[in-house]
Amino acid sequence: MTHWVDTGIEYLKGVGPAKAQALKAELGIHTVGDLLSHYPFRHEDRSKIYQVNQLNGEDVYVQLQGFIQPQGIVGMGGGRRFVANFRDKTGEIELVWFQGYQYIEKSLKPNAFYQIYGKVNNFKGKLSIPHPELEIIEGHTPKSQGILVPVYPLTEGMRRKRLDNKFMVSICRVAVSSPQFHIPENLPIAILEKYKFLSRKDAIKELHFPSSIARLEDAKRRLKFEEFFYLQLRHLLIKGVRNRSYKGLVFEKVGQYFTEFYNNHLPFELTDAQKRVLKEIRADVKTGLQMNRLLQGDVGSGKTIVALLTMLLAIDNGYQASIMAPTEILATQHYYSLQEWVTSIGLNIALLTGSTTKKKRTELLEKTKNGEIHILVGTHALLEDHVQFEKLGMVVIDEQHRFGVAQRAKLWKKGQVVPHVLVMTATPIPRTLAMTIYGDLEVSVINQMPKGRKPIQTLHRAESMRPIVMDFLKKEIALGRQVYYVFPLIEESEKLELNSLMNGYDVVTSYLPTPEYKYSMVHGKMKAADKETEMQKFKNHQTQIMIATTVIEVGVNVPNASVMVIENAERFGLSQLHQLRGRVGRGSEQSYCILLSGNQLSQNGKKRLNTMVATNDGFEIAKVDLELRGPGELDGTKQSGILDLKIADIRTDESTLIASRVEAQKWLEFDELLMKTESAPIKYELNRSPHRTVWSKIS
Ligand code: ADP
Ligand code: MG
Repeated sequence: MTHWVDTGIEYLKGVGPAKAQALKAELGIHTVGDLLSHYPFRHEDRSKIYQVNQLNGEDVYVQLQGFIQPQGIVGMGGGRRFVANFRDKTGEIELVWFQGYQYIEKSLKPNAFYQIYGKVNNFKGKLSIPHPELEIIEGHTPKSQGILVPVYPLTEGMRRKRLDNKFMVSICRVAVSSPQFHIPENLPIAILEKYKFLSRKDAIKELHFPSSIARLEDAKRRLKFEEFFYLQLRHLLIKGVRNRSYKGLVFEKVGQYFTEFYNNHLPFELTDAQKRVLKEIRADVKTGLQMNRLLQGDVGSGKTIVALLTMLLAIDNGYQASIMAPTEILATQHYYSLQEWVTSIGLNIALLTGSTTKKKRTELLEKTKNGEIHILVGTHALLEDHVQFEKLGMVVIDEQHRFGVAQRAKLWKKGQVVPHVLVMTATPIPRTLAMTIYGDLEVSVINQMPKGRKPIQTLHRAESMRPIVMDFLKKEIALGRQVYYVFPLIEESEKLELNSLMNGYDVVTSYLPTPEYKYSMVHGKMKAADKETEMQKFKNHQTQIMIATTVIEVGVNVPNASVMVIENAERFGLSQLHQLRGRVGRGSEQSYCILLSGNQLSQNGKKRLNTMVATNDGFEIAKVDLELRGPGELDGTKQSGILDLKIADIRTDESTLIASRVEAQKWLEFDELLMKTESAPIKYELNRSPHRTVWSKIS
């Protein structure tokens, strides 16, 4: 017998083939179970009935009762619409339909008493309600819809077919009122009891049609936990499978290269935080398990040297290492700074990017394959299949939280044995986000800056203060310092981007004229080699001012640069601003970050700039960023699956997230392979969930 939740949606009363087709195409709802997992995103309190004279154009959604008088079709072309007049005892308001009005026109009953529901539109003081929901009330008493009415996410396509919220409410009600209504439990009894959770069946029913606000909260509490629990459990299962299926390389010794470099070539003393992280990594690579570690450290905290020492561990034990960066410019930077260090101890390092010539590439690939190259630096091009190592033991992935499980998995194909992986990110991400995206990784944090750094001073200046800012730049340059001057990237068009950069350059040079002041310029559309030349000129102090779009965002390291000016700073996201600011403050001089903006700022824009001025702490900034933008907008979240969260929110449900992690861990300690009877609900869920493809691939 088919289970209720697996019943095809077309068999639900009130649906039928055409509507079923729409539900599938528009919302991906194929079964009754899918329908019931299409959670409402809020509930309307429909106990309140407004009167027309109470509407002031600010009430978003309102419910009214009265009579409707059709007026007819007005307007031309795209403005063509059907208009009716709604009236209660206090006044009148226009109802408008742009689509489907033949049907509405036919079905409106002039003498019927209606309850209508919709969003008030205020056009220059004239109020109307487009596409209201209509319901005829017999005998002037409203049909009880329950006091809290669910509001479902819908698409335009659904609305066009007149499959509106009212339709969704009605079919969901059918689904939960059927005598067959049942939803199997997917949490173990022990957890249900410990947290006093509603059963899954009750929770789903209460979430759609709450019997009270308290019950609605109970339902949400359970469903959020459940959602996080499975997210965490999947991470831990992936980790478990990885640990059981892949042996990790064992790097027992700290050998010749590490020791030689550490004792004789280390350019500075490591901070305690750097030392601690290295210890964590060394412990990892001795266990016989494959390391998957995330290293978080704010910009400038010194991750590169940690990466190098980690790679030396691999080389000392007879393996090759590789470091990947997201852009060519960054890969090139890494190459140069690492080269200086590793050639001092006699190792071979090479750079492979998209612009490596064919001849050179063939040679490099050969030397990588036969093991002559110890460290290969590059962009994601290193992931391509034809890049083969003799013995790859360690992969460092820099500046990435765009690097999900799938991309990491590609690395596993690179050798007989899976290399250790260290993912480094300079965009500190709040713990909740890290747990959600990187729940299968161990996490290390460098929470300390190298000694002698002066905190960067950040100033926000309006456009009108440009002359004063320019004077300040002159003074700094006279002291021998260098300046970054950054313009926003204009993504819509290369031409626009270049134009705005050129205009900007003209403005800057009108204050700081050439040839007295010398400029480098870098933008996204330049050839890699040209970018590199410009960067080198700046690095060697042949130029004093680096004009750039955000291509310099990550990784660029010029300690003598002490001022970062960001033009139109209000257009940048917080994490971008923080990354840019991190380009200065790398030497011992006092550094400055100047945020130039227009005089008019949006609420969010103001909050971003104020946050930048108030704090240098990347974690603090990441938190505000998450609050302002929501997880869906943050880099890296697209592939991470956290957009699939239907009810839980990592911004507000942190404690639930942590509890779910703990419970998932405990459960796997109790029953690692999910073989015990108590784990049956979990196995059921893992086998039926939409993630099952991933699951079957890894198990
Ligand atoms: P990030 O973590 O942003 O990648 P880098 O590794 O580029 O930071 O380091 C930033 C700068 O700090 C570099 O110039 C680096 O040489 C220097 N640095 C790193 N660690 C230390 C340290 N322990 N003491 C002094 N300077 C350091
Ligand atoms: Mg770096």
